[in-house]
Amino acid sequence: MLTLTCPHCGIRAEETELSPGGEAHLKRYGPGDTDEAFEAYMFARKNPKGVHFERWRHAYGCGKWFLAARCTATLEVFGTYPAQTSEPPEHIIAAITAKRPGWEGYK
Ligand SMILES: [Zn+2]
Repeated sequence: MLTLTCPHCGIRAEETELSPGGEAHLKRYGPGDTDEAFEAYMFARKNPKGVHFERWRHAYGCGKWFLAARCTATLEVFGTYPAQTSEPPEHIIAAITAKRPGWEGYK
């Protein structure tokens, strides 16, 4: 079972206490952008086998949103951090590259 530590309240929550919110760090598009950029924002999502950045909500706890870096194949969690972060923090990147030396970044 997937367990994530909520960065807001510090509780290590099981997957059943959380609600998934999809891919993290999406660049938003709106009026004035191309149709292709808006379509990609609305519908295109990464679905990697490996490291993935995701949005989660501590639904049956503090109720706040946070972000998690984890491996979709092994459920290994590299860390969680507040949702108000535009890019993965350095300590998360360091945790990933320490365990996945060939990892090429989140972009
Ligand atoms: Zn919480």
